[in-house]
Amino acid sequence: MALCNAHYYATRDPLGASGDFTTAPEIDQMFGEMVGACLADCWHRAGKPAEAIYAELGPGRGTLAADALRVLGPIDVHLVETSPALREVQRGRVSGAKFYDRIDDLPKRPMLLVANEFFDALPIRQWVGDEQRLVVVDDDKLAFTATGLIVEDSPSRIAVAAGLAAHLAAHGGVALIIDYGHDRSAPGDTLQAVKDHCFADVLANPGDQDLTSHVDFDALRRAASGSGVRTTDCITQGEWLHRLGIAHRAQGLTAANPDRAETIASALARLTAPDQMGDLFKVMAIHHPDWPIPAGFQ
Ligand code: SAH
Repeated sequence: MALCNAHYYATRDPLGASGDFTTAPEIDQMFGEMVGACLADCWHRAGKPAEAIYAELGPGRGTLAADALRVLGPIDVHLVETSPALREVQRGRVSGAKFYDRIDDLPKRPMLLVANEFFDALPIRQWVGDEQRLVVVDDDKLAFTATGLIVEDSPSRIAVAAGLAAHLAAHGGVALIIDYGHDRSAPGDTLQAVKDHCFADVLANPGDQDLTSHVDFDALRRAASGSGVRTTDCITQGEWLHRLGIAHRAQGLTAANPDRAETIASALARLTAPDQMGDLFKVMAIHHPDWPIPAGFQ
């Protein structure tokens, strides 16, 4: 999964209508604006530390950063991105950004960090009892070994969550993690492949389709706790965006652009309706104990 995704992201821009999948920031500017407003509010209530940075994990096309930064105002931007192709796109959207391969390399300063649909792309393992389910070559084709009730885990995701928590504990700040997944660990096979906006066979086209799995927020929370940081409840994206006032923002945008009323209404529904992204996607924050609980979680 790690090898396939490294090749996949390094060799293309997979986002949007011409790519394989569409993410929340690519649906509408309101998503990034809500993230920016939440981070700006945290920064104000933390006493406006001048050395704080905006940081993002896996920024895709840089759209979320561009929309959030319009709300946040001038601030140093630090992006964790391994794909050379996507770094190029991000450079075009966010001027002056600095790039890193790993979160451990981020500057030792308070962070306002967001990771949207980043954790789902990090590799997982699958287990059937004590046996790890592997991908093998069988009859010249890729195949899975063990069958049965599958339990997933992800050392890569755990390492990133623990690293984020350690950084926040040492230097201050807040991290918003947004992704599809579940707030309680549970068994189940959630590995999926997407190509041309459709689900595909996970073993087909290795390195040429998006491989992800649902994020176990409970596991991220366990990995983060112990560093002395606080974690919030994990709530649905729909509820979080509504608590932050996305419907009000949609009204404002519609009043200013009456010809776009239908587009804005449909974007609002895609981002928040329970049968669209609203319920499947979850949001959880990790923050330094001296930093406020971010808006939308109280
Ligand atoms: N956050 C963006 C893009 C999500 S796609 C959005 O919401 O639109 C996943 C992003 O994570 C891409 O930018 C991809 O290149 C990046 N990525 C995937 N695996 C990574 C890794 N191991 N390290 C750093 N970035 C990674």
